[in-house]
Amino acid sequence: MVKGFVYLVGAGPGRADLITVRGAEILQKADCIIYDKLANPALLKFARKDAEIIHVPKRIGINSVSQDQINKLLLEKVCSRKIVVRLKGGDPGIFGRCAEEIAILTDAGIDFEIVPGVTAAAAAAEYAGIILTDREYSSQVVFVTGQEAEGKQRTEDGRQTMIDWQWLAKFRGTIVFYMALGNLDFIAKQLIENGMDENTPAAVIADATFPTQRVVRASLRLISQKCKRNKVEPPAIVIIGAVADSDARLDWFMKKPLFGKNIVITRDARGNAEFADKIISRGGNPIEFTAIKIKPLTNTNRFIRVLANLAKYDWIIFTSSNGVMIFFDCLLSLGKDTRVFGSARIAAIGSETADKLGEYGIKADFVPSVFTSKELGKQLSSFANLHSKKVLLLRSKIASEELFSWLEKAGAEVENVPIYRIVTAKGKCKWLVEKISAGEIDWLVFASSSSVRAFFEQIQADTVNSSNAKVASIGPVTSEQLKSLGVRVDVEASEHTVDGLLNAVEQTYK
Ligand code: SAH
Repeated sequence: MVKGFVYLVGAGPGRADLITVRGAEILQKADCIIYDKLANPALLKFARKDAEIIHVPKRIGINSVSQDQINKLLLEKVCSRKIVVRLKGGDPGIFGRCAEEIAILTDAGIDFEIVPGVTAAAAAAEYAGIILTDREYSSQVVFVTGQEAEGKQRTEDGRQTMIDWQWLAKFRGTIVFYMALGNLDFIAKQLIENGMDENTPAAVIADATFPTQRVVRASLRLISQKCKRNKVEPPAIVIIGAVADSDARLDWFMKKPLFGKNIVITRDARGNAEFADKIISRGGNPIEFTAIKIKPLTNTNRFIRVLANLAKYDWIIFTSSNGVMIFFDCLLSLGKDTRVFGSARIAAIGSETADKLGEYGIKADFVPSVFTSKELGKQLSSFANLHSKKVLLLRSKIASEELFSWLEKAGAEVENVPIYRIVTAKGKCKWLVEKISAGEIDWLVFASSSSVRAFFEQIQADTVNSSNAKVASIGPVTSEQLKSLGVRVDVEASEHTVDGLLNAVEQTYK
Protein backbone atom coordinates (compact mmCIF):
# COMPACT_ATOMS: atom_id res chain seq x y z
CA MET A 1 0.00 0.00 0.00
CA VAL A 2 1.37 3.40 -0.97
CA LYS A 3 0.85 5.77 1.89
CA GLY A 4 0.30 9.44 1.42
CA PHE A 5 0.88 12.46 3.59
CA VAL A 6 -1.72 14.63 5.29
CA TYR A 7 -1.50 18.35 5.89
CA LEU A 8 -3.98 19.74 8.40
CA VAL A 9 -4.16 23.30 7.15
CA GLY A 10 -5.74 26.27 8.89
CA ALA A 11 -7.75 28.23 6.31
CA GLY A 12 -7.95 31.33 8.48
CA PRO A 13 -11.09 32.97 9.80
CA GLY A 14 -12.97 33.79 6.61
CA ARG A 15 -11.46 36.20 4.16
CA ALA A 16 -9.47 34.05 1.75
CA ASP A 17 -6.25 36.05 1.88
CA LEU A 18 -5.93 35.52 5.60
CA ILE A 19 -4.58 32.02 5.00
CA THR A 20 -0.84 31.69 5.72
CA VAL A 21 1.74 31.62 2.93
CA ARG A 22 2.56 28.03 3.90
CA GLY A 23 -1.11 27.07 3.76
CA ALA A 24 -1.51 28.51 0.26
CA GLU A 25 1.66 26.78 -0.95
CA ILE A 26 0.44 23.43 0.29
CA LEU A 27 -2.97 23.84 -1.34
CA GLN A 28 -1.14 24.18 -4.64
CA LYS A 29 0.43 20.78 -4.37
CA ALA A 30 -2.50 18.82 -2.96
CA ASP A 31 -3.87 15.79 -4.81
CA CYS A 32 -6.99 15.91 -2.70
CA ILE A 33 -8.52 18.70 -0.61
CA ILE A 34 -11.14 17.93 2.01
CA TYR A 35 -12.59 21.19 3.24
CA ASP A 36 -14.93 22.31 5.97
CA LYS A 37 -17.98 24.49 6.05
CA LEU A 38 -16.00 27.36 7.53
CA ALA A 39 -13.08 27.25 5.11
CA ASN A 40 -13.63 29.85 2.41
CA PRO A 41 -14.26 28.05 -0.93
CA ALA A 42 -12.43 30.92 -2.66
CA LEU A 43 -9.25 29.26 -1.38
CA LEU A 44 -9.79 26.52 -3.93
CA LYS A 45 -8.36 28.89 -6.51
CA PHE A 46 -4.99 27.66 -5.25
CA ALA A 47 -5.89 24.05 -6.02
CA ARG A 48 -4.42 22.25 -9.01
CA LYS A 49 -6.91 21.74 -11.83
CA ASP A 50 -6.74 17.97 -11.42
CA ALA A 51 -7.02 17.96 -7.63
CA GLU A 52 -9.94 16.11 -6.11
CA ILE A 53 -12.05 18.49 -4.05
CA ILE A 54 -14.34 17.17 -1.34
CA HIS A 55 -16.65 19.40 0.67
CA VAL A 56 -17.71 18.09 4.05
CA PRO A 57 -20.48 20.59 4.65
CA LYS A 58 -21.94 20.21 8.10
CA ARG A 59 -21.50 18.28 11.24
CA ILE A 60 -25.15 18.69 12.12
CA GLY A 61 -28.29 18.91 10.00
CA ILE A 62 -29.59 17.10 6.96
CA ASN A 63 -26.49 16.90 4.78
CA SER A 64 -24.39 16.22 7.79
CA VAL A 65 -21.09 14.43 7.58
CA SER A 66 -20.16 12.96 10.93
CA GLN A 67 -16.66 13.17 12.34
CA ASP A 68 -16.48 9.40 11.89
CA GLN A 69 -17.23 9.73 8.21
CA ILE A 70 -14.62 12.46 7.86
CA ASN A 71 -12.03 10.30 9.59
CA LYS A 72 -12.80 7.38 7.27
CA LEU A 73 -12.69 9.60 4.21
CA LEU A 74 -9.34 11.01 5.25
CA LEU A 75 -7.90 7.56 5.67
CA GLU A 76 -9.32 6.30 2.40
CA LYS A 77 -7.89 9.24 0.45
CA VAL A 78 -4.49 9.22 2.05
CA CYS A 79 -4.13 5.52 1.36
CA SER A 80 -4.76 5.94 -2.34
CA ARG A 81 -3.39 9.40 -2.91
CA LYS A 82 -0.15 11.13 -2.25
CA ILE A 83 -0.91 14.48 -0.69
CA VAL A 84 -4.16 15.13 1.14
CA VAL A 85 -5.02 18.51 2.58
CA ARG A 86 -7.54 18.69 5.36
CA LEU A 87 -8.52 22.35 5.19
CA LYS A 88 -10.18 23.65 8.33
CA GLY A 89 -11.61 27.04 9.23
CA GLY A 90 -9.40 29.22 11.44
CA ASP A 91 -6.67 27.27 13.19
CA PRO A 92 -6.83 23.46 13.11
CA GLY A 93 -5.93 23.16 16.78
CA ILE A 94 -8.57 25.51 18.15
CA PHE A 95 -11.93 23.74 18.42
CA GLY A 96 -11.09 22.03 15.15
CA ARG A 97 -11.34 18.37 16.18
CA CYS A 98 -7.80 18.08 14.98
CA ALA A 99 -6.79 15.59 17.66
CA GLU A 100 -9.33 13.01 16.50
CA GLU A 101 -8.14 13.17 12.93
CA ILE A 102 -4.51 12.95 13.96
CA ALA A 103 -5.22 9.90 16.11
CA ILE A 104 -6.62 8.10 13.08
CA LEU A 105 -3.53 9.00 11.06
CA THR A 106 -1.00 7.99 13.68
CA ASP A 107 -2.82 4.68 14.23
CA ALA A 108 -2.45 4.00 10.53
CA GLY A 109 1.19 5.09 10.55
CA ILE A 110 0.56 8.07 8.29
CA ASP A 111 2.78 11.14 8.51
CA PHE A 112 1.27 14.56 8.84
CA GLU A 113 2.02 18.23 9.30
CA ILE A 114 -0.13 20.88 10.97
CA VAL A 115 -0.19 24.31 9.35
CA PRO A 116 -1.50 26.88 11.84
CA GLY A 117 -4.10 29.41 10.80
CA VAL A 118 -5.46 32.69 12.10
CA THR A 119 -8.10 31.69 14.61
CA ALA A 120 -11.53 33.32 14.62
CA ALA A 121 -11.06 34.89 18.08
CA ALA A 122 -8.05 36.93 16.99
CA ALA A 123 -9.50 37.90 13.62
CA ALA A 124 -13.00 38.72 14.86
CA ALA A 125 -11.62 40.86 17.67
CA GLU A 126 -9.20 42.76 15.45
CA TYR A 127 -11.70 43.28 12.62
CA ALA A 128 -14.09 44.70 15.22
CA GLY A 129 -11.43 46.97 16.71
CA ILE A 130 -11.04 44.97 19.92
CA ILE A 131 -7.58 44.27 21.32
CA LEU A 132 -7.88 41.02 23.27
CA THR A 133 -4.97 41.77 25.60
CA ASP A 134 -4.97 45.55 25.68
CA ARG A 135 -2.57 45.89 28.60
CA GLU A 136 -4.62 48.59 30.21
CA TYR A 137 -7.54 46.18 30.74
CA SER A 138 -6.49 42.59 30.34
CA SER A 139 -3.37 40.51 30.92
CA GLN A 140 -4.96 37.21 30.12
CA VAL A 141 -7.35 35.71 27.63
CA VAL A 142 -9.22 32.45 27.63
CA PHE A 143 -10.88 30.61 24.73
CA VAL A 144 -14.01 28.69 25.67
CA THR A 145 -16.40 26.56 23.66
CA GLY A 146 -20.04 27.48 23.95
CA GLN A 147 -21.02 24.00 22.91
CA GLU A 148 -19.37 21.22 24.75
CA ALA A 149 -18.82 17.68 23.56
CA GLU A 150 -21.00 15.00 25.07
CA GLY A 151 -20.04 13.04 28.11
CA LYS A 152 -19.03 15.94 30.32
CA GLN A 153 -20.33 16.85 33.79
CA ARG A 154 -23.83 18.19 34.05
CA THR A 155 -25.12 21.49 35.40
CA GLU A 156 -28.19 21.59 37.64
CA ASP A 157 -30.56 22.04 34.70
CA GLY A 158 -29.17 18.96 33.02
CA ARG A 159 -26.71 20.49 30.56
CA GLN A 160 -23.33 18.91 30.13
CA THR A 161 -20.35 20.97 31.09
CA MET A 162 -16.67 20.74 31.83
CA ILE A 163 -16.50 24.48 32.16
CA ASP A 164 -15.84 25.79 35.63
CA TRP A 165 -18.33 28.66 35.65
CA GLN A 166 -17.30 29.82 39.11
CA TRP A 167 -13.72 30.18 38.00
CA LEU A 168 -14.72 31.77 34.70
CA ALA A 169 -17.03 34.28 36.39
CA LYS A 170 -14.09 35.50 38.48
CA PHE A 171 -11.62 35.52 35.61
CA ARG A 172 -9.98 38.93 35.42
CA GLY A 173 -9.24 39.13 31.74
CA THR A 174 -10.87 38.58 28.36
CA ILE A 175 -13.14 35.59 27.73
CA VAL A 176 -13.76 34.52 24.14
CA PHE A 177 -16.51 32.05 23.37
CA TYR A 178 -16.63 30.08 20.14
CA MET A 179 -19.85 28.41 18.93
CA ALA A 180 -21.79 30.28 21.55
CA LEU A 181 -24.55 32.21 19.79
CA GLY A 182 -27.25 29.59 20.36
CA ASN A 183 -26.28 29.27 24.03
CA LEU A 184 -25.73 32.90 24.82
CA ASP A 185 -28.63 33.16 27.28
CA PHE A 186 -27.30 30.22 29.23
CA ILE A 187 -23.71 31.47 29.16
CA ALA A 188 -24.60 34.96 30.41
CA LYS A 189 -26.80 33.48 33.11
CA GLN A 190 -24.05 31.15 34.34
CA LEU A 191 -21.51 33.96 34.49
CA ILE A 192 -23.82 36.38 36.27
CA GLU A 193 -25.09 33.77 38.73
CA ASN A 194 -21.52 32.89 39.56
CA GLY A 195 -20.67 36.46 40.39
CA MET A 196 -19.65 38.29 37.24
CA ASP A 197 -20.88 41.89 37.05
CA GLU A 198 -23.89 41.96 34.75
CA ASN A 199 -22.65 45.25 33.30
CA THR A 200 -19.43 43.67 32.01
CA PRO A 201 -19.06 44.72 28.37
CA ALA A 202 -19.74 42.05 25.77
CA ALA A 203 -19.42 42.02 21.99
CA VAL A 204 -20.64 39.55 19.40
CA ILE A 205 -18.94 39.51 16.02
CA ALA A 206 -20.65 37.54 13.29
CA ASP A 207 -19.24 36.74 9.84
CA ALA A 208 -15.94 38.24 10.95
CA THR A 209 -13.57 39.54 8.26
CA PHE A 210 -16.28 39.38 5.56
CA PRO A 211 -18.09 42.38 4.03
CA THR A 212 -21.14 40.98 5.82
CA GLN A 213 -19.47 41.32 9.25
CA ARG A 214 -21.76 42.49 12.05
CA VAL A 215 -20.86 43.63 15.52
CA VAL A 216 -23.34 43.81 18.40
CA ARG A 217 -22.28 45.32 21.70
CA ALA A 218 -24.12 45.34 24.98
CA SER A 219 -23.69 44.53 28.65
CA LEU A 220 -23.45 40.86 29.59
CA ARG A 221 -27.02 41.06 30.85
CA LEU A 222 -28.43 42.36 27.57
CA ILE A 223 -26.18 40.87 24.92
CA SER A 224 -28.25 37.78 24.14
CA GLN A 225 -31.47 39.74 23.86
CA LYS A 226 -29.84 42.30 21.58
CA CYS A 227 -28.44 39.58 19.31
CA LYS A 228 -31.87 38.03 18.99
CA ARG A 229 -33.44 41.39 18.26
CA ASN A 230 -30.85 42.05 15.56
CA LYS A 231 -31.26 38.53 14.17
CA VAL A 232 -27.55 37.81 14.38
CA GLU A 233 -26.63 34.47 12.88
CA PRO A 234 -23.63 32.17 13.26
CA PRO A 235 -20.74 31.90 12.82
CA ALA A 236 -20.10 34.34 15.62
CA ILE A 237 -17.52 35.00 18.30
CA VAL A 238 -18.52 36.30 21.72
CA ILE A 239 -16.07 38.47 23.64
CA ILE A 240 -16.63 39.29 27.28
CA GLY A 241 -14.52 41.67 29.32
CA ALA A 242 -13.49 45.29 29.54
CA VAL A 243 -11.78 45.20 26.12
CA ALA A 244 -15.15 44.53 24.48
CA ASP A 245 -16.29 48.06 25.27
CA SER A 246 -16.66 50.14 22.16
CA ASP A 247 -13.82 52.45 21.17
CA ALA A 248 -14.54 54.15 17.85
CA ARG A 249 -10.86 55.01 17.39
CA LEU A 250 -10.03 51.33 17.00
CA ASP A 251 -12.63 50.65 14.34
CA TRP A 252 -10.82 50.36 11.03
CA PHE A 253 -12.56 47.67 9.01
CA MET A 254 -16.23 48.58 9.10
CA LYS A 255 -15.27 52.20 8.60
CA LYS A 256 -13.85 51.58 5.14
CA PRO A 257 -15.93 53.50 2.56
CA LEU A 258 -16.82 50.38 0.58
CA PHE A 259 -17.47 48.21 3.66
CA GLY A 260 -20.46 45.97 3.04
CA LYS A 261 -21.26 47.45 -0.35
CA ASN A 262 -22.53 44.95 -2.91
CA ILE A 263 -20.66 45.65 -6.11
CA VAL A 264 -21.42 43.82 -9.34
CA ILE A 265 -18.41 43.36 -11.60
CA THR A 266 -18.87 42.62 -15.25
CA ARG A 267 -15.64 41.55 -16.89
CA ASP A 268 -14.47 38.12 -18.05
CA ALA A 269 -13.82 35.48 -15.40
CA ARG A 270 -10.08 36.21 -15.09
CA GLY A 271 -10.61 39.97 -14.98
CA ASN A 272 -13.41 39.60 -12.45
CA ALA A 273 -11.23 37.51 -10.15
CA GLU A 274 -8.56 40.25 -10.05
CA PHE A 275 -11.20 42.93 -9.64
CA ALA A 276 -12.87 40.98 -6.81
CA ASP A 277 -9.63 40.86 -4.82
CA LYS A 278 -9.34 44.62 -5.00
CA ILE A 279 -12.93 45.10 -3.84
CA ILE A 280 -12.44 42.68 -0.94
CA SER A 281 -9.33 44.51 0.19
CA ARG A 282 -11.43 47.67 0.39
CA GLY A 283 -14.07 45.91 2.51
CA GLY A 284 -16.63 45.58 -0.28
CA ASN A 285 -18.59 42.55 -1.40
CA PRO A 286 -17.83 41.69 -5.04
CA ILE A 287 -20.61 39.99 -6.98
CA GLU A 288 -19.11 38.42 -10.06
CA PHE A 289 -21.14 38.45 -13.25
CA THR A 290 -19.15 37.07 -16.13
CA ALA A 291 -20.42 39.29 -18.93
CA ILE A 292 -17.77 38.56 -21.52
CA LYS A 293 -15.39 35.89 -22.69
CA ILE A 294 -12.07 36.63 -24.26
CA LYS A 295 -11.17 34.39 -27.18
CA PRO A 296 -7.55 34.38 -28.29
CA LEU A 297 -6.87 34.87 -31.98
CA THR A 298 -3.26 33.91 -31.61
CA ASN A 299 -3.51 30.61 -33.47
CA THR A 300 -3.82 32.33 -36.84
CA ASN A 301 -1.11 32.19 -39.50
CA ARG A 302 -1.05 35.93 -39.52
CA PHE A 303 -0.21 36.20 -35.85
CA ILE A 304 2.44 33.48 -36.05
CA ARG A 305 4.05 35.38 -38.96
CA VAL A 306 3.96 38.63 -37.01
CA LEU A 307 5.45 36.92 -33.98
CA ALA A 308 8.36 35.65 -36.04
CA ASN A 309 9.09 39.19 -37.24
CA LEU A 310 8.44 41.27 -34.11
CA ALA A 311 11.96 42.66 -34.03
CA LYS A 312 11.43 44.49 -37.29
CA TYR A 313 8.89 46.88 -35.74
CA ASP A 314 9.92 50.20 -34.21
CA TRP A 315 6.96 50.32 -31.84
CA ILE A 316 4.67 47.61 -30.51
CA ILE A 317 1.54 48.82 -28.77
CA PHE A 318 -0.59 47.00 -26.22
CA THR A 319 -3.96 48.53 -25.39
CA SER A 320 -5.14 46.23 -22.60
CA SER A 321 -3.83 43.86 -19.98
CA ASN A 322 -5.90 41.13 -21.66
CA GLY A 323 -3.87 41.65 -24.82
CA VAL A 324 -0.65 41.34 -22.83
CA MET A 325 -1.77 38.11 -21.14
CA ILE A 326 -2.94 36.54 -24.38
CA PHE A 327 0.23 37.55 -26.16
CA PHE A 328 2.43 35.98 -23.49
CA ASP A 329 0.25 32.87 -23.12
CA CYS A 330 0.93 32.23 -26.79
CA LEU A 331 4.58 33.25 -26.72
CA LEU A 332 5.39 31.02 -23.76
CA SER A 333 3.40 28.08 -25.13
CA LEU A 334 5.58 28.25 -28.24
CA GLY A 335 8.65 27.96 -26.06
CA LYS A 336 9.78 31.51 -26.87
CA ASP A 337 10.63 34.40 -24.58
CA THR A 338 10.84 38.17 -24.56
CA ARG A 339 13.89 38.23 -26.84
CA VAL A 340 11.39 38.12 -29.74
CA PHE A 341 10.94 41.87 -29.25
CA GLY A 342 14.52 42.61 -30.30
CA SER A 343 15.02 46.35 -30.06
CA ALA A 344 11.37 47.24 -30.73
CA ARG A 345 10.02 49.79 -28.29
CA ILE A 346 6.85 49.06 -26.40
CA ALA A 347 3.92 51.32 -25.52
CA ALA A 348 1.06 50.60 -23.13
CA ILE A 349 -2.28 52.39 -23.01
CA GLY A 350 -2.20 52.80 -19.23
CA SER A 351 -0.70 51.79 -15.92
CA GLU A 352 -2.57 48.47 -15.70
CA THR A 353 -1.33 47.33 -19.09
CA ALA A 354 2.17 48.54 -18.19
CA ASP A 355 2.02 46.66 -14.87
CA LYS A 356 0.95 43.50 -16.67
CA LEU A 357 3.92 43.89 -19.06
CA GLY A 358 6.06 44.34 -15.97
CA GLU A 359 4.92 40.93 -14.69
CA TYR A 360 6.60 39.46 -17.77
CA GLY A 361 9.75 41.49 -17.27
CA ILE A 362 9.01 44.24 -19.79
CA LYS A 363 9.21 47.90 -18.91
CA ALA A 364 6.97 49.93 -21.21
CA ASP A 365 8.84 52.68 -23.05
CA PHE A 366 5.77 54.87 -23.22
CA VAL A 367 2.53 55.26 -21.26
CA PRO A 368 0.32 58.31 -21.93
CA SER A 369 -0.75 60.55 -19.05
CA VAL A 370 -4.42 59.87 -19.78
CA PHE A 371 -5.29 56.23 -20.37
CA THR A 372 -7.42 56.32 -23.51
CA SER A 373 -6.74 55.18 -27.10
CA LYS A 374 -7.04 58.72 -28.34
CA GLU A 375 -4.50 60.08 -25.88
CA LEU A 376 -2.17 57.18 -26.57
CA GLY A 377 -2.17 58.01 -30.29
CA LYS A 378 -1.91 61.73 -29.73
CA GLN A 379 0.78 61.65 -27.06
CA LEU A 380 2.90 58.93 -28.65
CA SER A 381 2.95 60.92 -31.89
CA SER A 382 4.50 63.87 -30.12
CA PHE A 383 6.74 61.77 -27.84
CA ALA A 384 8.44 59.90 -30.70
CA ASN A 385 9.09 60.66 -34.33
CA LEU A 386 6.85 58.11 -36.00
CA HIS A 387 7.54 59.16 -39.57
CA SER A 388 8.02 56.00 -41.69
CA LYS A 389 8.27 53.99 -38.51
CA LYS A 390 6.75 50.54 -38.36
CA VAL A 391 4.12 50.39 -35.64
CA LEU A 392 2.30 47.21 -34.60
CA LEU A 393 -1.01 47.30 -32.72
CA LEU A 394 -1.76 44.11 -30.80
CA ARG A 395 -5.31 44.47 -29.56
CA SER A 396 -8.93 43.41 -29.62
CA LYS A 397 -10.68 42.72 -32.91
CA ILE A 398 -13.06 45.56 -32.24
CA ALA A 399 -10.97 48.55 -31.26
CA SER A 400 -10.95 52.29 -31.59
CA GLU A 401 -10.17 53.78 -34.99
CA GLU A 402 -8.84 56.90 -33.34
CA LEU A 403 -5.55 55.38 -32.25
CA PHE A 404 -4.95 54.10 -35.75
CA SER A 405 -5.64 57.43 -37.40
CA TRP A 406 -3.45 59.43 -34.99
CA LEU A 407 -0.54 57.13 -35.75
CA GLU A 408 -1.13 57.26 -39.51
CA LYS A 409 -1.38 61.02 -39.37
CA ALA A 410 2.05 61.05 -37.75
CA GLY A 411 3.39 59.19 -40.79
CA ALA A 412 3.72 55.74 -39.24
CA GLU A 413 3.24 52.51 -41.19
CA VAL A 414 0.65 50.97 -38.90
CA GLU A 415 -0.25 47.33 -38.82
CA ASN A 416 -3.25 46.30 -36.77
CA VAL A 417 -3.26 42.66 -35.65
CA PRO A 418 -6.24 41.49 -33.62
CA ILE A 419 -5.02 39.03 -31.00
CA TYR A 420 -8.33 38.43 -29.25
CA ARG A 421 -11.99 38.98 -29.69
CA ILE A 422 -14.60 39.54 -27.06
CA VAL A 423 -17.85 37.62 -27.06
CA THR A 424 -20.84 37.81 -24.76
CA ALA A 425 -20.75 35.14 -22.07
CA LYS A 426 -24.35 34.00 -22.20
CA GLY A 427 -25.31 32.60 -18.87
CA LYS A 428 -27.99 32.72 -16.25
CA CYS A 429 -28.87 36.23 -15.20
CA LYS A 430 -32.25 35.90 -13.50
CA TRP A 431 -30.56 35.81 -10.08
CA LEU A 432 -28.88 39.13 -10.77
CA VAL A 433 -32.03 40.78 -12.13
CA GLU A 434 -33.77 39.72 -8.93
CA LYS A 435 -31.04 41.15 -6.74
CA ILE A 436 -31.01 44.44 -8.63
CA SER A 437 -34.79 44.74 -8.49
CA ALA A 438 -34.84 43.85 -4.79
CA GLY A 439 -32.49 46.74 -4.04
CA GLU A 440 -29.69 44.44 -2.91
CA ILE A 441 -27.08 45.88 -5.25
CA ASP A 442 -25.24 49.11 -4.44
CA TRP A 443 -23.10 49.40 -7.56
CA LEU A 444 -22.71 48.05 -11.07
CA VAL A 445 -19.24 48.78 -12.36
CA PHE A 446 -18.10 48.65 -15.96
CA ALA A 447 -14.46 48.55 -16.98
CA SER A 448 -14.94 48.51 -20.76
CA SER A 449 -17.49 49.23 -23.42
CA SER A 450 -17.53 45.57 -24.43
CA SER A 451 -18.62 44.64 -20.90
CA VAL A 452 -21.40 47.21 -21.20
CA ARG A 453 -22.62 45.82 -24.52
CA ALA A 454 -22.53 42.23 -23.28
CA PHE A 455 -24.21 43.06 -19.97
CA PHE A 456 -27.10 44.95 -21.55
CA GLU A 457 -27.58 42.29 -24.19
CA GLN A 458 -28.74 40.17 -21.28
CA ILE A 459 -30.19 42.61 -18.78
CA GLN A 460 -32.52 45.46 -19.65
CA ALA A 461 -31.40 49.02 -19.08
CA ASP A 462 -34.72 49.67 -17.35
CA THR A 463 -34.02 47.06 -14.69
CA VAL A 464 -30.97 49.09 -13.69
CA ASN A 465 -32.39 52.57 -14.23
CA SER A 466 -35.45 51.87 -12.11
CA SER A 467 -33.44 50.34 -9.24
CA ASN A 468 -31.36 52.06 -6.61
CA ALA A 469 -28.17 50.46 -7.91
CA LYS A 470 -25.67 53.05 -9.05
CA VAL A 471 -23.60 52.75 -12.21
CA ALA A 472 -19.87 53.48 -12.41
CA SER A 473 -17.79 53.65 -15.57
CA ILE A 474 -14.04 53.45 -16.05
CA GLY A 475 -13.85 56.29 -18.56
CA PRO A 476 -15.46 58.34 -21.31
CA VAL A 477 -15.67 55.59 -23.94
CA THR A 478 -17.42 53.22 -21.53
CA SER A 479 -19.71 56.04 -20.35
CA GLU A 480 -20.65 56.83 -23.95
CA GLN A 481 -21.55 53.21 -24.52
CA LEU A 482 -23.71 53.20 -21.40
CA LYS A 483 -25.46 56.40 -22.39
CA SER A 484 -26.07 55.20 -25.93
CA LEU A 485 -27.94 52.24 -24.45
CA GLY A 486 -30.01 54.56 -22.29
CA VAL A 487 -28.28 53.71 -19.00
CA ARG A 488 -27.71 56.45 -16.46
CA VAL A 489 -24.07 56.91 -15.45
CA ASP A 490 -23.61 57.98 -11.83
CA VAL A 491 -19.84 58.08 -11.65
CA GLU A 492 -16.99 58.16 -14.16
CA ALA A 493 -13.43 57.45 -13.07
CA SER A 494 -10.91 60.21 -13.71
CA GLU A 495 -8.08 57.68 -13.75
CA HIS A 496 -9.06 54.99 -16.21
CA THR A 497 -7.97 51.91 -14.29
CA VAL A 498 -9.73 49.43 -12.04
CA ASP A 499 -8.26 51.19 -9.00
CA GLY A 500 -9.35 54.54 -10.42
CA LEU A 501 -12.85 53.15 -10.84
CA LEU A 502 -12.98 52.00 -7.22
CA ASN A 503 -11.54 55.31 -6.03
CA ALA A 504 -14.36 57.10 -7.83
CA VAL A 505 -16.97 54.88 -6.20
CA GLU A 506 -15.33 55.36 -2.78
CA GLN A 507 -15.30 59.11 -3.29
CA THR A 508 -19.12 59.16 -3.32
CA TYR A 509 -19.11 58.07 0.34
CA LYS A 510 -16.62 60.67 1.58
N1 SAH B 1 -10.90 26.22 14.19
C1 SAH B 1 -11.72 27.40 14.14
C2 SAH B 1 -12.91 27.33 15.06
C3 SAH B 1 -13.89 26.27 14.70
S1 SAH B 1 -15.25 26.24 15.77
C4 SAH B 1 -10.86 28.63 14.46
O1 SAH B 1 -9.73 28.50 14.88
O2 SAH B 1 -11.35 29.74 14.25
C5 SAH B 1 -16.41 27.22 14.87
C6 SAH B 1 -16.63 28.53 15.54
O3 SAH B 1 -15.61 29.44 15.17
C7 SAH B 1 -17.90 29.23 15.14
O4 SAH B 1 -19.01 28.73 15.82
C8 SAH B 1 -17.58 30.64 15.56
O5 SAH B 1 -17.67 30.79 16.95
C9 SAH B 1 -16.12 30.74 15.19
N2 SAH B 1 -15.94 31.33 13.85
C10 SAH B 1 -15.37 30.77 12.79
N3 SAH B 1 -15.34 31.61 11.74
C11 SAH B 1 -15.92 32.75 12.17
C12 SAH B 1 -16.19 34.00 11.56
N4 SAH B 1 -15.85 34.27 10.30
N5 SAH B 1 -16.80 34.95 12.30
C13 SAH B 1 -17.13 34.72 13.58
N6 SAH B 1 -16.90 33.56 14.20
C14 SAH B 1 -16.30 32.58 13.51
